[in-house]
Amino acid sequence: MTNKLKYFVGNWKMFGDFTSFKTVNKINQFSRKYKKLHKNKIILCVPNTLIFFFNKKLQSKNISLGAQNCHYYQNYGPFTGSVNSQMLKKTGAEYIILGHSENRSEGDTDKIIEKKINSSIKNKLNVIFCIGESYKQKKNGKTFSTLRKQMKNSLKKISNLNKIILAYEPIWSIGTNNIPKASQLKKTIKFIKNESKKILKIKKPIKVLYGGSVDPNNARSFSFIKEIDGFLIGRASQSAKKFIDIIENYYK
Ligand code: PEP
Repeated sequence: MTNKLKYFVGNWKMFGDFTSFKTVNKINQFSRKYKKLHKNKIILCVPNTLIFFFNKKLQSKNISLGAQNCHYYQNYGPFTGSVNSQMLKKTGAEYIILGHSENRSEGDTDKIIEKKINSSIKNKLNVIFCIGESYKQKKNGKTFSTLRKQMKNSLKKISNLNKIILAYEPIWSIGTNNIPKASQLKKTIKFIKNESKKILKIKKPIKVLYGGSVDPNNARSFSFIKEIDGFLIGRASQSAKKFIDIIENYYK
């Protein structure tokens, strides 16, 4: 079993309220003990309404909290209903998911995402930047060109790349219980690592997570793909049991 640091990131999406602290607390307690067994980092990206509350309630913090999106504008401004990265940082968020396909489908372009990444990094948030192809792009053999374009358009001008983690999330896999074939996934993660080195002119490959229908039953199968640096977990992360089972099964 690997001794490389692995990330387990929960994306709660639009779920949860103050009573959900029990879920966070269970995961936090699990993490305190489990960190001694395996090198891993747990991050829960929860709704904005809960970050400050969870952060205050956690007594000893063994996990990090994150947000799921922000407005591209860096300062205060006339954007009704929006929050910027600075406001999220002040709630106690350490991470932020950007470029999620659910936000792309609501109008986030590569350029808007680039601005969000820039603003988040300036405000000292670590960015989990999602890229991924649609089913149609996959069928038409456009997976690699889609990923290349997404990385190029949103990352090329970013200077502090230490703050970026990529998440490969094929759109056809999110919320569907369909996961890529192991050989294909390995190839794609390798492609992202190599291509990002070329685009960003860096020597050390960037970390790449996989996201899309990860659950306790399939978690173990991913442990054979050593190129994967961790997971972005949607639905299953809303349950402490499922989230913990994923981590334990991964290391079995
Ligand atoms: C996600 O929304 O980032 C995700 C991976 O969702 P799910 O795990 O539910 O497919």
